[in-house]
Amino acid sequence: MRSAKSSDYLCFCNSKEVEEDFFNSGEQYCQAIENAGGVPFQLIFGPLVGEGYYTKVGEGIRQLLGVTPKEFTEEMYQGMIEDIIPLSDDIPTDQAETREKFINGEIQNFKAEILLRTNWGEKKWVRDSSLPLRDQKTGKVIGSCGIFFDISERKQSMVHLARANEKAEESDRLKTAFLNNLSHEIRTPLNAIVGFSTLLGEPGESPERRKEFLNIITHSTDHLLEILDDIVEISKIETKIVKILIKEVNLNSMLQRVYDRFRAKAAEKSLLLRFDAHINEKEVILRTDSFKLLQLLSNLVGNALKFTTYGKVEFGYIIKDDKVEFYVADTGIGIPKEHQEKIFNTFYQVESSSTQRYEGTGLGLSIAKAYIELLGGNIWFDSHPGEGSVFYFTLPYDRKLNLLDRSTQL
Ligand code: ADP
Repeated sequence: MRSAKSSDYLCFCNSKEVEEDFFNSGEQYCQAIENAGGVPFQLIFGPLVGEGYYTKVGEGIRQLLGVTPKEFTEEMYQGMIEDIIPLSDDIPTDQAETREKFINGEIQNFKAEILLRTNWGEKKWVRDSSLPLRDQKTGKVIGSCGIFFDISERKQSMVHLARANEKAEESDRLKTAFLNNLSHEIRTPLNAIVGFSTLLGEPGESPERRKEFLNIITHSTDHLLEILDDIVEISKIETKIVKILIKEVNLNSMLQRVYDRFRAKAAEKSLLLRFDAHINEKEVILRTDSFKLLQLLSNLVGNALKFTTYGKVEFGYIIKDDKVEFYVADTGIGIPKEHQEKIFNTFYQVESSSTQRYEGTGLGLSIAKAYIELLGGNIWFDSHPGEGSVFYFTLPYDRKLNLLDRSTQL
């Protein structure tokens, strides 16, 4: 195999003068190409693709593919190719076919984007633009001369752009779905409020019936307020104006508050609701935002109860080094695998295959995730359709603070 020599440039020229001119202009062109970030090359074909040799390769090949111009061979180049995207319809993707067409003059201008795996394992997109190289005497195509351009950055930004576009479309779809959903979500409690308020005014209703109407009105009003609170909250998160108020929170009292908030709901659905406060740690103190912790635990426990028909919902925490790990476990419907990646997305709701429709806006988990991240923790879950789900999240835990607190209390 021969390596590149500038004198090889001359082998197709006749008179010394012309050679001199050609050499000078050739070298100048090559320099200009290299200055523009391209790697000029001249390839003499072998009997088969991969058996040719380069008579000229620009220095830029070192940076492009991690090899010196001397080391670079057609065999090596072919071995790096992972994908070829021809840039015109007359260029086949099959290399041997392309070579044949190139030699018999069917392809005058070869242009393709080529994905290469470099010697150090990095993937690079390269644009290969080349023209036929002819034997001066016979006029036969004996090789090609062209330029490699590194287009990896452009390709990368195209991928980012496509992803951003996809995200924007997804967000658009979600917002439309949200608006449809929202109008339904707001309409349902509003209709109940209006309808049952009218009924309250009707003469002849028994006190029991009136009490029943009042309960429905209260429930619907609470639900309406929850929806509106969620919308306000997510808007604050999106516009990054959420404020955090850190103070000392007694975890066991916090769990008790969550339990008290949901015990009636659990009883209504005949579900067992349990919480596991740390028995040995009467006073586990956390420095965090109490309101947000209450809200995100409520979101998770509320969801667990909503998506469970039989069985139980349990929640609690364990202390792991410098973290508190909370859990909320249910024996509910679970989350199908294909939806698991998306449930933290704003407005996302798993469509139920059954006819049952669950109340909600698809905002609870995205609010919970945003809060947890703001408070320095993580959230994840483990879920099996038909068996149930366990949601976990962590928050920073300061052991020193707890020791200090206990010793001052003694
Ligand atoms: P929503 O207001 O709909 O409950 P969330 O953001 O809280 O919104 O939850 C998003 C979706 O994730 C829910 O609509 C539901 O499909 C799924 N999901 C959340 N928690 C659970 C759970 N404990 N069990 C089953 N599915 C759940």
